[in-house]
Amino acid sequence: MININVSSIPAGISVQTFQWVIKRDEYDFFNEDLYIEGKFKVNNIHKTQIEFEGIIEFSLELICDRCLERFKRDFSEEVLFVLKKDYLGDELDIINFTDYLCDITDYIKDIVVTAIPSKNLCKDDCKGICPKCGVNLNYEKCKCNI
Ligand SMILES: [Zn+2]
Ligand SMILES: [Zn+2]
Repeated sequence: MININVSSIPAGISVQTFQWVIKRDEYDFFNEDLYIEGKFKVNNIHKTQIEFEGIIEFSLELICDRCLERFKRDFSEEVLFVLKKDYLGDELDIINFTDYLCDITDYIKDIVVTAIPSKNLCKDDCKGICPKCGVNLNYEKCKCNI
């Protein structure tokens, strides 16, 4: 779970850094714990409405579409969201809080999932797998003539 403790946010405008973890059993999308760092300019002029503008950074283990090897890729996503007291609307980037803890897990999960490109390559010039003998051509040469 990712909670922001609203009562710990200083009044006015400040720069805040957060470290979050989504445990893999809370997260049905990947097989690993997800470590996320958020760096924001936080605008807390009105205490019932707190604006976060900045980036979240995380790295994910992906599978290369060409060679099927697992690889790590770093992501840095720009975000802008607002925590709003007793918010009942359905804007995706406005997150309701009632007391002092605001649960932003679903919002962050959405950012992570949307950040993943539809094509994933371990490197731009990945040579892939030989369709005949199946060796990973990044590591070995084969004698198949294709
Ligand atoms: Zn590859
Ligand atoms: Zn081959």
